[in-house]
Amino acid sequence: MIIIMLGAQGTGKGTVAGLLSDSLGIPQISTGDIFRKNISEKTPLGIEADKFISKGNLVPDDITVPMVEDRLNWDDAKNGVILDGFPRTIEQAEKLDKMLSNIGKKVDMVINLVTPKEEIIDRMLTRRVCTNQDCKATYNVKLHPPKVEGICDKCGANLKQRADDSDPEAIKKRLEIYEEKTSPLVNYYQEKGVLRTEEISLSINRMGADVAKDIIEDLKK
Ligand code: ADP
Ligand code: ZN
Repeated sequence: MIIIMLGAQGTGKGTVAGLLSDSLGIPQISTGDIFRKNISEKTPLGIEADKFISKGNLVPDDITVPMVEDRLNWDDAKNGVILDGFPRTIEQAEKLDKMLSNIGKKVDMVINLVTPKEEIIDRMLTRRVCTNQDCKATYNVKLHPPKVEGICDKCGANLKQRADDSDPEAIKKRLEIYEEKTSPLVNYYQEKGVLRTEEISLSINRMGADVAKDIIEDLKK
């Protein structure tokens, strides 16, 4: 089963993807996480990608697409994956379709998360991530804080704010790029009949965990 997480920054893609991954037993593949791991390990890919990420720009396809293609060929991906952060443009979506059809697969479900703008910026500023690159759990100091402040519940490592989440200019740029380049994917997948839109908002008291639970129940039917 190939699932894609769609939705602007701060809507809860990572949270929903993580819950689905645990429950369905298929890996969550987050392009942002792969980039951050490479940046922290100072690999050639990381050094190159950081030039774009630190400014809030997209990493070019000649770096991103082969990286995803390689990841899809790992053994743990043979029963399916949850893609979180890819595709982000129509071109990437078309390249993904090609990649999948080469291995006899297709996109089965696209989960489009929608959250009011006012809540999004607040959530990005209060987001914290685990510094252990093999864990990468995410928290929110207001909405789902760790049990002990600054410490990951899952692995005990320190939590920190992502560099691009603390820079208001980078946040603004990323949201603009989402509107311009990524939001057209909603129509792209709607037309393919695989889109499922879910609202996540404090105003309706519906969070990522609620959405994940509903999707898991529907998949069992
Ligand atoms: P967010 O969605 O909160 O901006 P991500 O963790 O998904 O964060 O990605 C962090 C950064 O990594 C993005 O701002 C972008 O620079 C880069 N990135 C991630 N996925 C892609 C992609 N599919 N194509 C190009 N760049 C990407
Ligand atoms: Zn952790």
